[in-house]
Amino acid sequence: MGTLFLARPQLLARKKRVAMARYELRCRECGKTWGNQPRSICDDCFSPLEVSYDYDAVRTSFTRERISQRPPDMWRYAELLPLPEDFHPSLATGFTPLFSAPRLAQRLGAKQLWIKNDAVCLPTLSFKDRVVAVALAQARNFGFETVACSSTGNLANAVAAQAAREGFQAWIFIPADLEPAKILATRVYGARLVTIRGSYDQVNRLCSQIADEYRWGFVNVNLRPYYAEGSKTVGFEIAEQLGWRLPDNIVVPMAGGSLITKIKKAFDELVQLGLVDPKPVKFFGAQATGCSPISTAVKCDSSEIEPQKPATIARSLAIGNPADGHYAIKAITRSGGWAEDVCDHEVVESIQLLAECEGIFTETAGGVTVGVARKLYRQDRILPDEITVLCITGNGLKTTDALAGKYEAEAAILPKLAEFEKYLQNTLEVPETVEA
Ligand SMILES: *Cc1c(COP(=O)(O)O)cnc(C)c1O
Ligand SMILES: [Zn+2]
Repeated sequence: MGTLFLARPQLLARKKRVAMARYELRCRECGKTWGNQPRSICDDCFSPLEVSYDYDAVRTSFTRERISQRPPDMWRYAELLPLPEDFHPSLATGFTPLFSAPRLAQRLGAKQLWIKNDAVCLPTLSFKDRVVAVALAQARNFGFETVACSSTGNLANAVAAQAAREGFQAWIFIPADLEPAKILATRVYGARLVTIRGSYDQVNRLCSQIADEYRWGFVNVNLRPYYAEGSKTVGFEIAEQLGWRLPDNIVVPMAGGSLITKIKKAFDELVQLGLVDPKPVKFFGAQATGCSPISTAVKCDSSEIEPQKPATIARSLAIGNPADGHYAIKAITRSGGWAEDVCDHEVVESIQLLAECEGIFTETAGGVTVGVARKLYRQDRILPDEITVLCITGNGLKTTDALAGKYEAEAAILPKLAEFEKYLQNTLEVPETVEA
């Protein structure tokens, strides 16, 4: 390990010059281009960098027909992902199910409700697998041997698992109060886990400092522009799975605010390349009330984030100072959408509601999405006949502590029919028996 600590960025910097890049980093504010390198901020104006593409170069190969013939994973949209020329995917990540949710729709007063289910995204059961897959492709390209991240949980799992698979060392930095399942599902892959006594925002600040000192590929710090592009595949898939159509509304949980802005970018790119007809899509952001800097700004008609100190069971969304908050607000308000938040009690109820109606066990972030959707239908901000997609982004088996105390322990009975009948007598409802 010792040599890693001595390595300085300038000694190991390996410049990749590509003559006519298919994509490159561009400043979101001043427009200056930065080529391709592990960097997330414009040195001139300190604004975030984003990957921009030469859309004319992809027009002939990126067609509905060609895409539909490719394997069912996120790599079918490779032309619009920042992947190295020699990239060969080793994991079939993404292309999670999109399906209608009639029973949940009935409960929410909806008619055209769809669920995009990244609770079953592989390999680690959250949408973070998509962003990490793209980030690690670039980590290899830039010559990093160690990858790292600051995480609210799911990113830790995704980096640890995919680093193991791809042969990287992994260093994971998390706030100390994460759910035990998410900690275990990081350690099991052999990643180095650094637990910080502080909030995610403090962990993230520390990681920015570490990224300046050590030559590590931090997926959500110096590789952030590449990483964030992976989220677009959620949007590409929704459009393709709806039959190359855009929905009327989409409800997206927000932590750093990246996913919601990237789904918007994906829809815009599909329109620009003629794969879907242009259509106004309303973007609705979902947060937990205990950490709601973005929804609060939207509700107060402010374009800037007022950082918060998180206090919610929705730990995967507990970012008090969201990096892309400003852009998330813009995406929401310009679309005619809205943002809402729900308290922890409603998060738990909504987890149960989704499970009971549709057979999907989501984590707290999914409870936030369903709870907020319920509010939005009640507020008539979403109308029943509109095609509405809810983004379920993570799996409930990782946050079982959120349901602690919700179900009484069952007393075991003996394996005898008489015992069962006695048990039935003691329950409220007696089911129909077979006709005698
Ligand atoms: C990280 C995360 C989000 C939000 O992602 P951002 O792009 O940071 O807004 C949503 N759901 C789950 C389960 C997550 O882990
Ligand atoms: Zn700039």
